[in-house]
Amino acid sequence: QISIRNFTKKFDDTPVIENMNLTVNGGEMLALLGPSGCGKSTTLFAICGIHRIDGGQILFGDRDVSTLPSQKRNVGVVFQNYALYPHMTVYENIAFPLTVRNDRKADIDKEVRAIAKLTHISELLERRPGQLSGGQQQRVALARALIRRPDVLLLDEPLANLDAKLRLEMRSEIRRIQLETGITAVLVTHDQVEAMSMCDRIAIMKAGEIVQIATPSEMYNDPRTAFVAGFLGNPP
Ligand code: ATP
Ligand code: MG
Repeated sequence: QISIRNFTKKFDDTPVIENMNLTVNGGEMLALLGPSGCGKSTTLFAICGIHRIDGGQILFGDRDVSTLPSQKRNVGVVFQNYALYPHMTVYENIAFPLTVRNDRKADIDKEVRAIAKLTHISELLERRPGQLSGGQQQRVALARALIRRPDVLLLDEPLANLDAKLRLEMRSEIRRIQLETGITAVLVTHDQVEAMSMCDRIAIMKAGEIVQIATPSEMYNDPRTAFVAGFLGNPP
């Protein structure tokens, strides 16, 4: 479980998020859904520790991680551009988080092969990222994010760079992998269909605030504001 309590974030003294409260239940996949600039990535960066926070607390279970750097939080992150290392093979890319930790070669090998199997890229391990399709690159990014068996998986617009057909395929693939691992996950997206089809619950954000949190069907059937209704394409 992730608890965000009274989270505040400022840029140049201007608050973009003030006193946000949000709980992500253990094992669920939650969408942060909202228009551009509403603070989705800022919230995700606070969870993973890329941003320092200006107020409040972030807890993983009952562990307060607010002041811990990213490397000590045991989170896996996938960004829109995947950020794979072009000079390394797929195998080396996935192994990297373990290599820098100086794990034993045999242990690394076992883990890489297990994660490659989960993400369906066992046949691609000797290739380089430049020799892969967008969907395959995303599978590698997912594998690398999961290799340390993190407590939390954070996805920031992971499907934005894919064409429509791959986007459909990877929606269900990411959800399958999340369900198979049982990992607690947060998906940032501005695509309501993505949020509705992939997630257990949706938090709709507007201008730094969470307007409503609900399951996809609750949200669709009972939108609490016109903004939510409009965003879900179901105006009252
Ligand atoms: P998008 O869908 O476009 O990615 P977002 O919901 O992820 O949007 P954020 O990146 O969280 O939005 O940005 C929230 C607000 O904070 C925006 O007004 C943005 O301009 C501002 N902001 C984000 N990063 C910085 C920064 N490094 N310096 C100053 N302002 C920033
Ligand atoms: Mg963003």
